[in-house]
Parts: sequence; C-alpha cells; structure tokens
Amino acid sequence: MKILVAVKRVVDYNVKVRVKSDNTAVDTANVKMSMNPFDEIAIEEAVRLKEKGVATEIIAVSCGVTQCQETLRTAMAIGADRAILVETTEELQPLAVAKLLKALVDREQPGLIILGKQAIDDDCNQTGQMLAALADLPQVAFASKVEVADGKATVSREIDGGTETLSVTLPAVVTADLRLNEPRYVTLPNIMKAKKKPMEVLKPEDLGVDVSPRIKTLKVNEPPKRSAGVKVPDVATLVAKLKTEAKVI
Ligand code: AMP
Repeated sequence: MKILVAVKRVVDYNVKVRVKSDNTAVDTANVKMSMNPFDEIAIEEAVRLKEKGVATEIIAVSCGVTQCQETLRTAMAIGADRAILVETTEELQPLAVAKLLKALVDREQPGLIILGKQAIDDDCNQTGQMLAALADLPQVAFASKVEVADGKATVSREIDGGTETLSVTLPAVVTADLRLNEPRYVTLPNIMKAKKKPMEVLKPEDLGVDVSPRIKTLKVNEPPKRSAGVKVPDVATLVAKLKTEAKVI
C-alpha cells in the first residue's frame, strides 16, 4: 500500500509572526521557514506504518515555491521514499491544494492519504476535508491513533471529554492531530540519504488544475498590544482599582 502525505512549508513555529506594514499579509521575508508541525506528525505516522509492514511506499507532496524542496527533503529524511513538488509562485488556498492533491491521488492511487489537521500559518483546517470531498473518499479528521488492517483504518480522535473511534474503508483521508505521535529526530545520515531520493517537480498545469485564488484577503492585523501591568501593594488597593479604574466590580 502506498501512503501519500501532504507537507506544507510554513513560518517556523518559534518565529514571532510580523504583519507587513501595508496590512496585506504576514511578512515572510528573511523569516525561518519549516515543515508545518502537524505534517511532521503525518509523515512520522506514515513511516511507522511502513515500519510495521503495512505500507510499502511513502510519497511526500508539497505545493508552493521552489524552496518547498527543502521541506520535502526533510520529509524524506524522516522516511518518505520519494517526493513530488507542485511548483507555483501563486498564493495557494486550501481548495487549490485539495485539487492538486486530488489529481495526484488519481495518478498515484494511494491506500491512505495523511495530512496535517491544519497549517499553522493560515489556520484553515480545510484541505483534508476538501480533498476527501473532491476525491469522494472517507475521511477522519483530528486523528490521535491510526491502525490499519484488512483494508480498513481504525482511527481514534479526541473529542470533548473523551475519544471517538471510527472505522473507515481504504483508501481514506486522515488528518493528524498533535497527540498522534512524537516525530523522530532527523539524523545526519538520514539527511544525507534523503539527498539521493527522487524528487519530481510538476506545475499545476501538468495536473490540469487552475490554482488561482478564489478568496481575497482584505486585511491582516496584529493582535492588539497589551498594556503593561502594575503591582499593587495590597488587596484593598486591588479592590479599589477594580472598582474605580477597571470598573469590573
Ligand atoms: P490547512 O487546510 O491550510 O489548515 O492545511 C491542512 C493540511 O493540508 C496541512 O497540514 C498540510 O498537510 C496540507 N496542506 C495545506 N497546504 C499545503 C501545501 N501548500 N502543500 C502541501 N500540503 C498542504
């Protein structure tokens, strides 16, 4: 069974995000970029399924600019066997990515498609669900445990106050939640090995997909600045301030 995993290049989660001065978008110039953390979890899960003998091949896919190749090399250093970059400088929205992935699903016929539950840059949480709809496949979003046997995946997902366990027939789309696994540390020998693994570069047109944006971003704002706190000497002053200044009691 093949597993297809989607990996997105995003602003590193340690970076304090800044908004461009014209409020049109997040500033990505000279900012450290990394693999979306949930996608690292998705790749790790695919590698574990291969190690268990459930999967035979793992294909990592990224859509975006040329530098996404670095993200794909990381995916191959974790354990993906080959990579596909769908290269474009166009701003990619979830629907466009879902259409590109659908075209690749048709071509590669994977038994399982794993995505991150959401990209930490746009926080959309849409691509996996849209892909499942476009490809007419069963889906389980927010997976915290995945077991594959007899052409079925048994997937647990954390819900309010408990866990829900679902069974889906394969092929299916699964999106990875934080507690699915802890991705392994990428070792230097594996980084070296990854350099020799095959990477195919396609254009959206090669897959017959129009990726032009359907949604227009009107404005991006930073969160309001928090004013500094003050220390009060005693409870009486605190209560007085809450009454007269904050006016909350
Ligand atoms: P989103 O719907 O944007 O929150 O993204 C959810 C998941 O879709 C991500 O965790 C990735 O697995 C996948 N994805 C989104 N955008 C891309 C992209 N440009 N390239 C590859 N995978 C993507």
